Amino acid sequence: MLEQNLLDVNTRIKNACIKSGRSFNEVTLIAVSKTKPLSDIEKLIQLGTLEFGENKVQELINKYDNVSQHVNWHLIGHLQTNKVKYIVDKVSLIHSVDSYKLAAEINLEALKKNTTVDILIQVNIANEDTKFGIQKEEIFDLITTINKLSNIKIKGLMTIAPFVDNPEDNRIHFRNLNQLLLDIRSKNLDNVDMLILSMGMTNDYEVAIEEGSTMVRVGTGIFGERNYNI
Ligand SMILES: *Cc1c(COP(=O)(O)O)cnc(C)c1O
Repeated sequence: MLEQNLLDVNTRIKNACIKSGRSFNEVTLIAVSKTKPLSDIEKLIQLGTLEFGENKVQELINKYDNVSQHVNWHLIGHLQTNKVKYIVDKVSLIHSVDSYKLAAEINLEALKKNTTVDILIQVNIANEDTKFGIQKEEIFDLITTINKLSNIKIKGLMTIAPFVDNPEDNRIHFRNLNQLLLDIRSKNLDNVDMLILSMGMTNDYEVAIEEGSTMVRVGTGIFGERNYNI
Protein backbone atom coordinates (compact mmCIF):
# COMPACT_ATOMS: atom_id res chain seq x y z
CA MET A 1 0.00 0.00 0.00
CA LEU A 2 2.74 2.47 0.93
CA GLU A 3 4.57 1.84 -2.31
CA GLN A 4 1.49 2.38 -4.46
CA ASN A 5 0.48 5.48 -2.47
CA LEU A 6 3.93 6.98 -2.87
CA LEU A 7 3.87 6.30 -6.61
CA ASP A 8 0.44 7.90 -6.89
CA VAL A 9 1.47 11.00 -4.96
CA ASN A 10 4.61 11.42 -7.05
CA THR A 11 2.61 11.02 -10.25
CA ARG A 12 0.16 13.65 -9.12
CA ILE A 13 3.00 15.99 -8.18
CA LYS A 14 4.52 15.50 -11.63
CA ASN A 15 1.20 16.18 -13.32
CA ALA A 16 0.67 19.35 -11.30
CA CYS A 17 4.17 20.47 -12.31
CA ILE A 18 3.47 19.78 -15.98
CA LYS A 19 0.14 21.57 -15.80
CA SER A 20 1.77 24.68 -14.36
CA GLY A 21 4.96 24.60 -16.42
CA ARG A 22 7.19 23.82 -13.48
CA SER A 23 9.97 21.32 -13.13
CA PHE A 24 9.41 18.24 -10.94
CA ASN A 25 12.66 18.79 -9.08
CA GLU A 26 11.48 22.17 -7.80
CA VAL A 27 9.05 20.38 -5.49
CA THR A 28 10.14 18.44 -2.41
CA LEU A 29 7.75 15.87 -0.99
CA ILE A 30 7.76 15.62 2.79
CA ALA A 31 6.24 12.41 4.09
CA VAL A 32 4.31 13.40 7.21
CA SER A 33 4.75 10.37 9.43
CA LYS A 34 3.06 11.62 12.62
CA THR A 35 1.25 8.84 14.54
CA LYS A 36 2.71 6.27 12.11
CA PRO A 37 5.12 3.52 13.18
CA LEU A 38 8.82 3.47 12.50
CA SER A 39 8.28 0.40 10.31
CA ASP A 40 6.37 2.58 7.82
CA ILE A 41 9.23 5.07 7.81
CA GLU A 42 11.74 2.29 7.17
CA LYS A 43 9.68 1.05 4.21
CA LEU A 44 9.57 4.52 2.73
CA ILE A 45 13.31 4.91 3.17
CA GLN A 46 13.72 1.71 1.15
CA LEU A 47 11.58 3.36 -1.52
CA GLY A 48 13.85 6.40 -1.58
CA THR A 49 12.09 8.88 0.72
CA LEU A 50 14.49 10.89 2.85
CA GLU A 51 12.30 13.79 4.04
CA PHE A 52 9.97 13.18 6.98
CA GLY A 53 7.68 15.56 8.83
CA GLU A 54 6.53 15.33 12.45
CA ASN A 55 4.44 17.74 14.46
CA LYS A 56 5.36 16.66 17.99
CA VAL A 57 8.80 17.03 19.52
CA GLN A 58 8.72 13.83 21.56
CA GLU A 59 7.61 11.71 18.63
CA LEU A 60 10.24 13.24 16.39
CA ILE A 61 12.98 12.48 18.91
CA ASN A 62 11.83 8.87 19.35
CA LYS A 63 11.90 8.28 15.63
CA TYR A 64 15.16 10.19 15.19
CA ASP A 65 16.81 7.99 17.82
CA ASN A 66 15.57 4.72 16.37
CA VAL A 67 15.62 5.09 12.61
CA SER A 68 18.20 2.90 10.86
CA GLN A 69 19.84 5.59 8.76
CA HIS A 70 20.13 9.35 8.46
CA VAL A 71 17.07 11.09 7.07
CA ASN A 72 15.96 14.73 7.15
CA TRP A 73 13.46 15.61 9.84
CA HIS A 74 11.06 18.52 9.47
CA LEU A 75 9.30 19.93 12.51
CA ILE A 76 5.99 21.08 11.07
CA GLY A 77 3.81 21.50 14.16
CA HIS A 78 3.56 24.20 16.78
CA LEU A 79 6.76 24.40 18.82
CA GLN A 80 6.88 25.42 22.47
CA THR A 81 9.95 27.36 23.57
CA ASN A 82 10.73 24.90 26.38
CA LYS A 83 11.09 22.06 23.87
CA VAL A 84 13.40 23.82 21.45
CA LYS A 85 16.52 22.49 23.15
CA TYR A 86 15.63 18.89 22.33
CA ILE A 87 15.50 19.33 18.59
CA VAL A 88 17.70 22.17 17.32
CA ASP A 89 20.50 19.81 16.36
CA LYS A 90 18.18 17.09 15.02
CA VAL A 91 15.96 18.84 12.48
CA SER A 92 16.86 20.09 9.03
CA LEU A 93 14.06 22.63 8.94
CA ILE A 94 11.60 24.10 11.43
CA HIS A 95 8.49 25.11 9.48
CA SER A 96 6.49 26.66 12.29
CA VAL A 97 8.23 29.78 13.61
CA ASP A 98 5.64 32.45 14.29
CA SER A 99 7.09 34.68 17.00
CA TYR A 100 10.29 36.49 17.86
CA LYS A 101 10.30 34.78 21.24
CA LEU A 102 10.43 31.35 19.64
CA ALA A 103 13.08 32.41 17.14
CA ALA A 104 15.23 33.87 19.92
CA GLU A 105 15.03 30.60 21.84
CA ILE A 106 15.98 28.59 18.74
CA ASN A 107 18.92 30.94 18.23
CA LEU A 108 20.05 30.56 21.84
CA GLU A 109 19.97 26.77 21.72
CA ALA A 110 21.62 26.75 18.30
CA LEU A 111 24.43 28.89 19.68
CA LYS A 112 24.92 26.49 22.60
CA LYS A 113 25.16 23.56 20.24
CA ASN A 114 27.31 25.50 17.81
CA THR A 115 24.93 24.99 14.93
CA THR A 116 22.75 27.04 12.60
CA VAL A 117 19.06 26.29 12.19
CA ASP A 118 17.04 26.79 9.02
CA ILE A 119 13.51 28.02 9.63
CA LEU A 120 10.35 29.02 7.84
CA ILE A 121 7.93 31.64 9.07
CA GLN A 122 4.43 30.25 9.52
CA VAL A 123 1.79 32.58 8.15
CA ASN A 124 -1.91 32.38 8.97
CA ILE A 125 -2.74 33.34 5.41
CA ALA A 126 -6.51 32.90 5.69
CA ASN A 127 -6.77 34.73 9.05
CA GLU A 128 -8.33 31.76 10.81
CA ASP A 129 -8.87 32.07 14.56
CA THR A 130 -7.92 28.47 15.13
CA LYS A 131 -4.53 28.52 13.46
CA PHE A 132 -1.05 29.29 14.63
CA GLY A 133 1.04 31.55 12.45
CA ILE A 134 1.36 35.29 12.14
CA GLN A 135 -0.85 37.60 10.12
CA LYS A 136 0.66 38.65 6.84
CA GLU A 137 0.60 42.32 7.88
CA GLU A 138 3.04 41.50 10.68
CA ILE A 139 5.55 39.60 8.65
CA PHE A 140 8.02 42.34 7.73
CA ASP A 141 8.41 43.42 11.34
CA LEU A 142 8.96 39.84 12.43
CA ILE A 143 11.44 38.99 9.71
CA THR A 144 13.48 42.14 10.18
CA THR A 145 14.01 41.25 13.82
CA ILE A 146 14.63 37.53 13.38
CA ASN A 147 17.13 38.11 10.60
CA LYS A 148 19.47 39.76 13.08
CA LEU A 149 19.85 36.51 15.04
CA SER A 150 23.22 34.97 14.24
CA ASN A 151 22.40 31.26 14.27
CA ILE A 152 19.11 31.24 12.43
CA LYS A 153 18.61 31.33 8.69
CA ILE A 154 15.19 32.30 7.32
CA LYS A 155 14.52 30.14 4.27
CA GLY A 156 10.93 30.90 3.38
CA LEU A 157 7.30 30.71 4.38
CA MET A 158 4.88 28.01 5.46
CA THR A 159 1.14 27.90 5.81
CA ILE A 160 -1.57 25.45 6.79
CA ALA A 161 -4.50 26.28 4.55
CA PRO A 162 -8.10 26.00 5.77
CA PHE A 163 -9.73 22.60 5.85
CA VAL A 164 -12.02 22.70 2.81
CA ASP A 165 -13.93 20.16 0.74
CA ASN A 166 -12.93 21.70 -2.54
CA PRO A 167 -9.16 22.33 -2.79
CA GLU A 168 -9.82 25.07 -5.34
CA ASP A 169 -11.09 27.15 -2.44
CA ASN A 170 -7.52 27.33 -1.15
CA ARG A 171 -6.00 28.52 -4.42
CA ILE A 172 -6.35 32.17 -3.45
CA HIS A 173 -4.52 31.56 -0.15
CA PHE A 174 -1.65 29.75 -1.87
CA ARG A 175 -1.42 32.51 -4.45
CA ASN A 176 -1.34 35.14 -1.71
CA LEU A 177 1.42 33.35 0.17
CA ASN A 178 3.50 33.04 -3.00
CA GLN A 179 3.02 36.77 -3.62
CA LEU A 180 4.13 37.51 -0.07
CA LEU A 181 7.25 35.40 -0.61
CA LEU A 182 8.07 37.35 -3.77
CA ASP A 183 7.46 40.69 -2.03
CA ILE A 184 9.84 39.78 0.77
CA ARG A 185 12.41 38.38 -1.64
CA SER A 186 12.41 41.61 -3.63
CA LYS A 187 13.56 43.49 -0.51
CA ASN A 188 16.85 41.55 -0.46
CA LEU A 189 17.00 41.45 3.34
CA ASP A 190 20.20 40.23 4.98
CA ASN A 191 20.10 36.64 6.18
CA VAL A 192 16.77 35.98 4.45
CA ASP A 193 16.61 33.59 1.48
CA MET A 194 12.91 33.20 0.67
CA LEU A 195 13.42 30.13 -1.48
CA ILE A 196 11.05 27.71 0.23
CA LEU A 197 7.28 27.81 0.10
CA SER A 198 5.92 25.03 2.30
CA MET A 199 2.27 24.68 1.42
CA GLY A 200 -0.11 21.93 0.36
CA MET A 201 -1.28 18.80 2.20
CA THR A 202 -3.06 15.64 1.06
CA ASN A 203 -6.26 17.43 0.17
CA ASP A 204 -4.79 20.34 -1.75
CA TYR A 205 -1.14 19.80 -2.70
CA GLU A 206 -1.77 19.86 -6.45
CA VAL A 207 -3.38 23.29 -6.28
CA ALA A 208 -0.55 24.43 -4.01
CA ILE A 209 2.04 23.28 -6.55
CA GLU A 210 0.21 25.09 -9.33
CA GLU A 211 0.50 28.22 -7.18
CA GLY A 212 4.23 27.85 -6.56
CA SER A 213 4.71 25.49 -3.61
CA THR A 214 8.23 24.09 -3.29
CA MET A 215 7.48 21.74 -0.37
CA VAL A 216 4.34 19.71 0.03
CA ARG A 217 3.59 17.99 3.34
CA VAL A 218 1.64 14.82 2.66
CA GLY A 219 0.55 12.46 5.42
CA THR A 220 -2.72 10.66 4.71
CA GLY A 221 -2.04 10.42 0.97
CA ILE A 222 1.06 8.31 1.66
CA PHE A 223 0.40 6.53 4.96
CA GLY A 224 -3.40 6.28 4.94
CA GLU A 225 -5.76 7.62 7.59
CA ARG A 226 -4.35 8.40 11.02
CA ASN A 227 -5.77 6.86 14.15
CA TYR A 228 -5.22 9.13 17.14
CA ASN A 229 -6.74 6.67 19.61
CA ILE A 230 -4.05 4.01 19.64
C1 LIG B 1 -0.65 16.47 9.69
C2 LIG B 1 -0.04 17.59 8.94
C3 LIG B 1 0.14 17.52 7.55
C4 LIG B 1 -0.30 16.35 6.70
O1 LIG B 1 -1.69 16.27 6.66
P1 LIG B 1 -2.44 15.29 5.62
O2 LIG B 1 -3.74 15.94 5.39
O3 LIG B 1 -2.55 13.98 6.30
O4 LIG B 1 -1.61 15.22 4.40
C5 LIG B 1 0.76 18.60 6.93
N1 LIG B 1 1.17 19.68 7.62
C6 LIG B 1 1.01 19.78 8.95
C7 LIG B 1 1.48 21.01 9.65
C8 LIG B 1 0.40 18.75 9.65
O5 LIG B 1 0.24 18.87 10.98
